[in-house]
Amino acid sequence: MFGFSIQKLLFTVAVIAAVWYGFKWVGRMKKVREREARERLRRQAGNGGGGGTGESGESGAGGSVSGVAEEMVECPACGAFVAATGAKSCGKEECPFLG
Ligand SMILES: [Zn+2]
Repeated sequence: MFGFSIQKLLFTVAVIAAVWYGFKWVGRMKKVREREARERLRRQAGNGGGGGTGESGESGAGGSVSGVAEEMVECPACGAFVAATGAKSCGKEECPFLG
């Protein structure tokens, strides 16, 4: 009787441990997959109008984004930031942008 109880307890602990490690593993795989997807997306996005030089995107920490980033201007009428090139009107009369 007593031995069976110990076995049951051990089995329960083993099951709990297995579930715990399973969740941990799944979470880690999810994180890795997310990071991979994000990296792939970033690589695809940075592919437009590329030159021959290999880009080192990881080194740019805290620096201003140059090249690809569009210049943003603030609309004096609505206060919204829009791209300087191809800006569209927000619909207000004072809005300087046409579109
Ligand atoms: Zn506006």
